[in-house]
Amino acid sequence: MTEKTAVIFDIGRYRNADGPGIRTIIFFKGCPLGCKWCCNPFGLSKRKQLIVNPFKCTGCGTCAEECQQGCNAIAADTHRVVVDFSKCILCGACIPPCGVNARSISGEEYTAHALYREASKDRAFYRRGGGGVTLSGGEVLMQWEVASETLRLCRQDGLDCCMETSGYAPWDHLWAVAKYCSTVFMDLKHIDSRKHEELTGVPNGLILENMERLCKELPGVGGRVIIRLPLVPGYNDDEDSVGRAAAFVSKLEHCPELNLLPYHDLGETKYEMMGQEYALSHVESRKKLDPHLQELYALCQLTAPDNRVSLGGDAIAQKG
Ligand code: SF4
Ligand code: SF4
Ligand code: SF4
Repeated sequence: MTEKTAVIFDIGRYRNADGPGIRTIIFFKGCPLGCKWCCNPFGLSKRKQLIVNPFKCTGCGTCAEECQQGCNAIAADTHRVVVDFSKCILCGACIPPCGVNARSISGEEYTAHALYREASKDRAFYRRGGGGVTLSGGEVLMQWEVASETLRLCRQDGLDCCMETSGYAPWDHLWAVAKYCSTVFMDLKHIDSRKHEELTGVPNGLILENMERLCKELPGVGGRVIIRLPLVPGYNDDEDSVGRAAAFVSKLEHCPELNLLPYHDLGETKYEMMGQEYALSHVESRKKLDPHLQELYALCQLTAPDNRVSLGGDAIAQKG
């Protein structure tokens, strides 16, 4: 029988975030949400897609000559390529001739065995600090069968496994992957379901239900849950919303850590590389020392006194 494949848009190596120690991060393509601030827009669509980096482009015009579909033209004012992505048939003909590597196709199919082999290449780096593999995206659970089998193979081989998820999936799919993880990072993007839907495209009922159940069941198989609140200025960082989110987290079993994530706009240029506009281009990045973030941090500590509360997306410690 042919082994199932998943579409992956990146494999990041030697990262020191999203799990303890040095991590290999596998990014799954496709997400059922559409968060306005998504910093990984290459992960939104499950389909492969052309990516063009306008900042590298020298305007040489070679891609316009190579493409039979007429997707590329050089703008008279900027002297950079303008791409009509809707015409692209992903033939790839324009990619090798681009002398500055400005063009690529995002999305490659991997079996679970191939992903396990990719993760185990970095085994030597995992020894220090309990490093390992983290599945991220997009939303890993849209391709849960391959994700689950990948982590089963990694765990069988003694590699530490973590996952980042929106939690927007049937419980069985979530559990099939989470049960192999030492840490599952789950986002709580807004505590109010109507506002959650406005910001992400989906209500939060299923996510909260899964969060409650995961916090209850994961410690039973040796894992922990870290709940992340991405704080987007003017969208979900008011005291009332954050306070209510912290109150919800304080009632979850086994006291999950609550991690407040300051907003950053690092994903903005990626939208341009896909020929799309970033909805939050007016919002500025925030630093950990921002006074409002410090107030929210204090508020969460007060509201969830039994939970460890952290601020910033720094490296995390190995599970004790
Ligand atoms: S081939 Fe590359 S550098 Fe030349 S116009 Fe196209 S994208 Fe720009
Ligand atoms: S991948 Fe093919 S169709 Fe798409 S822009 Fe390049 S040459 Fe044209
Ligand atoms: S859940 Fe994550 S990957 Fe999906 S749209 Fe939101 S931020 Fe992007």
